[in-house]
Amino acid sequence: MYLHDGAPRLGALRPGHQDEVVDLGGVARDLLGLIAAGERGLEKAQKIAAGASSRPLKGLKLLPPIDSPPGNIIAMGRNYQKHAEETASDGDVKPPTIFTKAITSIAGPYDDITIDPSISDDIDWEVELGLVIAKRGANISRRDAMSHVFGYFVLNDVSARDIQNGWGGQYFKGKSLDRSCPTGPWVVTADEAPDPRNLALRLTVNGVVKQDGNTRDMIHPVDAIIEWASKGMTLLPGAMIATGTPDGVGFTRTPPEFLHPGDVMETEVSGIGVLRNRIVAAKVDALADHSHRGA
Ligand code: MG
Repeated sequence: MYLHDGAPRLGALRPGHQDEVVDLGGVARDLLGLIAAGERGLEKAQKIAAGASSRPLKGLKLLPPIDSPPGNIIAMGRNYQKHAEETASDGDVKPPTIFTKAITSIAGPYDDITIDPSISDDIDWEVELGLVIAKRGANISRRDAMSHVFGYFVLNDVSARDIQNGWGGQYFKGKSLDRSCPTGPWVVTADEAPDPRNLALRLTVNGVVKQDGNTRDMIHPVDAIIEWASKGMTLLPGAMIATGTPDGVGFTRTPPEFLHPGDVMETEVSGIGVLRNRIVAAKVDALADHSHRGA
């Protein structure tokens, strides 16, 4: 998704021509529309992409591939063994957790992330492989699971640890701050994506590598996540799933590390793409405004 003349538009990158965008406005208004159009929509998109004129990717503002999924982002916690170990506060490695993130947390691939110290001082990073569901389904077997994947994207499950770890565990709130979750830079459709069981994941802060993992170390791989998440719970077309992060997050380091204004994160999944996000401080007037409300 990209911005053109002030409006969001659907476009495609083609293998071998990744510096050019072909407009797919003739197929669908947005990615959810393309997913709803099913196999026929994809065929039409492929035909248009083969012949249409393109515009340079450079200089275009990219938007979140999906900004209003049909429900919260579904997310896996502790889905990599070493990350499960680094977060095991009582020495006990627990099974993976499932939680959700509010859709208002979704941000674009290169958007700034605003930190407001009156809300959280402990903002942390998590590189993840994201996936988009292609078709409605419940009780999906592991064998059928991959046919329910529309495609893959990169996601940074930015987390406010002080909120997340507050009074009994508050994953939803701690992982749902407004526009804190960069996604994209695009969705690689399942037919063109590399094997999701062997993708390198890397996150750097100011060029320093903090996370360096591989999806082969997932406790529950993609097909198992879909089987488990869909048990008695319908997954809708366009649903977004965050598959968990490897070790190397900030709050488990000695001493703990968190993000500060001016920091730049690069979040990469090999064969999918790279997100780049700068941390900025909340505007002083916004804070002043807030503190004087009602005065
Ligand atoms: Mg996560």
